Amino acid sequence: DGGGNVKVVVRVRKFVPRELERRTPCLIHMNPATQQTTLSPPIVSADSHSRKTYEEKKFTFDNSFWSHDEEDAHYAHQEDIYRSFGEEFLEHNFDGYHTCIFAYGQTGSGKSYTMMGTPDQPGLIPRTCRGLFEKIEEEQNGSITYNVHVSYFEIYNEHVKDLLTPKSKDCGYLKIRESKLDGVYVQNLTDEQVKNYEDIERLMMVGDANRTTASTKMNDTSSRSHAVFTLTLKQIQHDLATDTTIERLARMRLVDLAGSERANRTEATGQRLREGGNINQSLTTLGRVIAALADPKRQKPASMRGSQNQTKRRAEVVPYRDSVLTWLLKDSLGGNSKTAMVACISPSDYEETLSTLRYADQAKRIRTRAHVNQDAVS
Ligand code: ADP
Ligand code: MG
Repeated sequence: DGGGNVKVVVRVRKFVPRELERRTPCLIHMNPATQQTTLSPPIVSADSHSRKTYEEKKFTFDNSFWSHDEEDAHYAHQEDIYRSFGEEFLEHNFDGYHTCIFAYGQTGSGKSYTMMGTPDQPGLIPRTCRGLFEKIEEEQNGSITYNVHVSYFEIYNEHVKDLLTPKSKDCGYLKIRESKLDGVYVQNLTDEQVKNYEDIERLMMVGDANRTTASTKMNDTSSRSHAVFTLTLKQIQHDLATDTTIERLARMRLVDLAGSERANRTEATGQRLREGGNINQSLTTLGRVIAALADPKRQKPASMRGSQNQTKRRAEVVPYRDSVLTWLLKDSLGGNSKTAMVACISPSDYEETLSTLRYADQAKRIRTRAHVNQDAVS
């Protein structure tokens, strides 16, 4: 059975040098027994003119990862993150399910560290790729042929840019198409076949170099862009006894989203709304899509409840098509996929952290209906 809720986990990072200099306190507490995450109010000095009131807030997610101080017995290493659900998702891929893991959070909260990591501390993407080829080697038995492809693109300002071959024609942007057979896809996107982990490693480096090159030109591209890394695993199995060939296709999407502070800003009134460049349509639409999926009942009139048109009506209301990100990730968000969200939080930013935790709390309520993508081809 592939029906289930989006798995939501939260991870708090250690202090960065800027925070250490300012001696900011850690506002996060995680209870390893209950997985509860507590956000404490910041200390507001008595002479502060701020009229905001801060309260303690508690949230419970599928997992809470304490990556704040390495001395703690419950410290979560990169390996622990992969072990707790990356590995499980890879199993699902071998069973023929599509999966998607996306990292959400403000700029500097640890999204790229969690997804890509560093050469010394590889994150979910390199570990998933390594695990994929390890499993292929383990399960190699002659009757199954494995076929792996990789693509890597970026969404910036509602444009799709291929990170594996950035100098494509048409001013470097790719078009999105939809077909009955393939669903929504990026036209002419490089989808390279890889034979081993080293092949992928090379592509990851090419892609990340293309991200960084751009960011020196446009000051903060990586905080404004969404990076989507996709692995496609095709298993072709020939059953000698029945002389049939079965194909299983699984896609795993690993998404490093733009900084969530962009989405929050657009909710502010006045001044900030006018800073057109700061509005990230894909991120704000993602918020609306999640809200609609989390609370489908609110989206449809009472007369529709229980009627056969229910699913149709719901599909109309969820605004997938309002942004490039949500259109391309439609299946990953509310459809045929097992999906997880890693909410990355900074240890001492009350407002941004509260908004991330609320967002994550809403995502918990989304249900997807994954099914095994299997076809008998002869
Ligand atoms: P984002 O991609 O969300 O903008 P980054 O992943 O670039 O944030 O993280 C910001 C900084 O914090 C980087 O210097 C990164 O190496 C560091 N960092 C983030 N998470 C962790 C962690 N769990 N452990 C150690 N350092 C981390
Ligand atoms: Mg980043």
